[in-house]
Amino acid sequence: MSPTIPSSPHRFSAEELEALRARYRAERDRRIRPDGATQYRRAAGEFGYYAKDPYTPFQEREPVRDRVEATVIGGGFGGLLTGAKLREAGVRDLRMIDEGGDFGGTWYWNRYPGIHCDIEATVYMPLLEEVGYVPKWRYAPGEEIRQHCIAIAKRFELYDDTMFHTRVVELTWDDDAAEWTVKTDRGDEFTSRYVVISSGTLTQPKLPGIPGIEDFRGHTFHTSRWDYGYTGGDQSGNLTGLAGKRVAVVGTGATGIQVIPHLAEAAEHLYVFQRTPSTVDYRGNRPTDQSVIDSVKPGWQRERMENFLNLVTGGHVDVDLIDDGWTATARLQRQMLTGTLDPTISAEEREYLDEIADFRKMDQIRARVDSIVEDRETAEKLKPWYRYMCKRPTFSDFYLQTFNRPNVTLVDTADHGGITRMTPTGIVVGDEEFEVDVVIFATGFEVGISGVVSGTLPVTGRGGMPLLGHWRNGPRTLHGFYSHGFPNLFHLGALQNAAAVNFVHVLQEQAIHIGALVAEANTRGAKRIEPSAEAEEAWAATIFQTAPKNFDFQAECTPGYYNGEGNPRPVNFSFGPGPVVFHELLRNWRADSIDEVLS
Ligand code: NDP
Repeated sequence: MSPTIPSSPHRFSAEELEALRARYRAERDRRIRPDGATQYRRAAGEFGYYAKDPYTPFQEREPVRDRVEATVIGGGFGGLLTGAKLREAGVRDLRMIDEGGDFGGTWYWNRYPGIHCDIEATVYMPLLEEVGYVPKWRYAPGEEIRQHCIAIAKRFELYDDTMFHTRVVELTWDDDAAEWTVKTDRGDEFTSRYVVISSGTLTQPKLPGIPGIEDFRGHTFHTSRWDYGYTGGDQSGNLTGLAGKRVAVVGTGATGIQVIPHLAEAAEHLYVFQRTPSTVDYRGNRPTDQSVIDSVKPGWQRERMENFLNLVTGGHVDVDLIDDGWTATARLQRQMLTGTLDPTISAEEREYLDEIADFRKMDQIRARVDSIVEDRETAEKLKPWYRYMCKRPTFSDFYLQTFNRPNVTLVDTADHGGITRMTPTGIVVGDEEFEVDVVIFATGFEVGISGVVSGTLPVTGRGGMPLLGHWRNGPRTLHGFYSHGFPNLFHLGALQNAAAVNFVHVLQEQAIHIGALVAEANTRGAKRIEPSAEAEEAWAATIFQTAPKNFDFQAECTPGYYNGEGNPRPVNFSFGPGPVVFHELLRNWRADSIDEVLS
């Protein structure tokens, strides 16, 4: 039986708290699987067709052998921002490489119906001022974002030298020439003074390792390679090809929540296979406010971005310029946590207040399910029982309503650890089979498979040292960007630095930093940008001392990619004081210490 959860802001009694904690623990235990992260299958080999590019025809070309000044691996926002900042730094000879057929990264691959960004477009879509664009919608549809990626590439002349449908397979440093040799899977072999790796963290689609998945004789695909040839319609819906079809969708994460209302509208019957319900908060999407359009003046976007970043990372601002689900939750937590400013408050009391804020937020989310979903049994299954940030929060004004339709069935698979198996004609959960014509996998992505950490891109530095050898006891970098013995090679992403829910903001600051380093090196005629071993050591120590000690929080969470499917890493590699302080630290370092890395 569910415990009674008070929604008033009173201090919870010890019994009430314990009842909630026990419920959360029970839900987590119900979901823990012994196979953890190995339960999934890569969309490779016999499943490689799940990862094929359905959007851009592959074009044969001759291998390239030449020299460029800078190479950027990855054409998503990280790569585009770095390309833009390198152009501003005066780099003319710049080559952009991506495995997709065009720019956009995640927004190139993900084109499923209903796709929107869940962060306000004015803070999420970078370089708006530079491109001269104001987003049309508060939460932009995927196609608007993809077009913006193309606009950035055009504005900064990043199409001048591109290699699409190309994967970098090897990087080797030549210390005499002070440049990298870059090899690709298309037979290219060229040299480059600088290399920037921005290949993303959630790029490779993953499939559940369901027995019998290969036996299914109906149609299947992954949401990140949407098959409009089969479904008809486009990103705004109208999936006429699904008329008369029995459709299964597996997964109810941030993607599933956006796709499911469109599938329900088009299918004869939709089966939603859920393992863990997401938190689904109010969205309220609407055209960009006139007041925002009127406020456009130099610096307007930066002001909004900083304001949002400050609020969602626990900082204080006088006016909440964004004022949405993200900032309201952050404000609620801050309200409970005003004690952080009071040095007399103990760590235990802070933890308690944080937990209360969380319970209240989740209580609100569960009450929303009750207020929308008519069938009581379905409503119970849709309620999440875990702490708010255990999984990526989602927002929708259509998702929960979908379960009031007569042609939609929610199939809860949690007691079975997910789908039991697939047959030639359908999906089995426990002993029950659901016959369907098409199965759509909204099952997410492998984490960090791309890039150097997974070893898929071997990097050899000075003296033949492999990067993963240098990092055998964990990543060693200065500020997350670069390592001793690997000059002129920069990493973008979450690595020994500070992340945030608006990750594009973090990438923008990283791109600014790399642009500034290259500009300074070129001004001074330096050939190498490289931290000393001591600087690297000191940064590792800073990370070690400040990294948030959130192992207990993660261990208590229901499994998901945030906590290694129930096996959280004991060591956290992020900068504890958060992104606002980190960005300030980078600015100060550029002003005072940039000489230290130039030679
Ligand atoms: P997720 O990894 O978040 O979700 C995968 C879903 O598949 C989960 O519901 C998972 O259940 C379910 N699943 C996996 N295996 C099985 C199985 N064997 N049986 C039944 N269900 C299964 O992937 P998403 O694509 O939804 O989202 C990935 C990330 O992409 C998000 O976290 C977010 O960072 C980003 N994103 C951002 C958006 C934005 O607007 N900014 C929009 C969409 C995605 P369980 O939870 O139990 O593991």
